[in-house]
Amino acid sequence: MKLVRFDKDGAVSTGVVVDDGVIDLAKTGAPETDVLAIIAGGDEALTAIRSAIVGIAPHYKLTEVKLLAPYRPLKFLAIGMNYTKHAEEARKLGVVVPEKQFWFNKQTSCVSGPFDEIDPGVTEQLDYEVELGVIIGRPAKAVSAADALSHVFGYVVVDDVSARDWQRHSPTFTVGKSFDTHGPFGPWIVTADEIPDPHVLGLRTWVNGELRQDSNTSDLIHNINTQIEYLSTAFTLESGDLLATGTPSGVGVALDPPVFLKAGDVVRCEIDGIGAIENRVKG
Ligand code: MG
Repeated sequence: MKLVRFDKDGAVSTGVVVDDGVIDLAKTGAPETDVLAIIAGGDEALTAIRSAIVGIAPHYKLTEVKLLAPYRPLKFLAIGMNYTKHAEEARKLGVVVPEKQFWFNKQTSCVSGPFDEIDPGVTEQLDYEVELGVIIGRPAKAVSAADALSHVFGYVVVDDVSARDWQRHSPTFTVGKSFDTHGPFGPWIVTADEIPDPHVLGLRTWVNGELRQDSNTSDLIHNINTQIEYLSTAFTLESGDLLATGTPSGVGVALDPPVFLKAGDVVRCEIDGIGAIENRVKG
């Protein structure tokens, strides 16, 4: 199922995407329409939605609504240097590539919609990072790698937008990764049952139509299972937490010479089986 949050003529609603249309859950008998509550409700909530939309035709075309960020996560964690070639390009830039998983926070106030503008703010080194986003369903504490995927509710496309100059201000990366509007994700949540293997997905970034990143989640250094195992060893991953699982090579800062995003640039991030988000740089 593809769960989406959208704005239709100023009214915000939650829907299910069917082909090129949206079923508005508020216009069905669905018992729950809040995305976080649906995530927490898991299989039971999804079963209720499936029965509520049987025989209902989409209320709108996708082109008639504005898609919004699916919800605001509780925690928005991201792992750095988690694709081999990207770790190599980071090393060339003087970044120490850690042996352990390298996690940082994106403040959840950075969340924005899948087609919203990116505001550069004060950075002069605006960059993109396509990443597979993993949404935690059932809370996970001390979960083994083998059981980890049973705690995943669904998947999204994330652009871990980065202010490279500010990212280098501190070893935690947090400030330079958390500018307002620097966390677009979506375009909808694809529930885990539609992605039987999240480690075989092609992912790509285009800037103004030029292909910049082109890789596959099979190249992850620490896969999703070990990411959830590692984090849940330390703290509880709660329903709705969002994990950005790393970006492949091809980021602007690693090009020779570096090329940063500028006003008017259009960044398109796409992942097989999920969809694409597209964000223009405000100017
Ligand atoms: Mg990243």
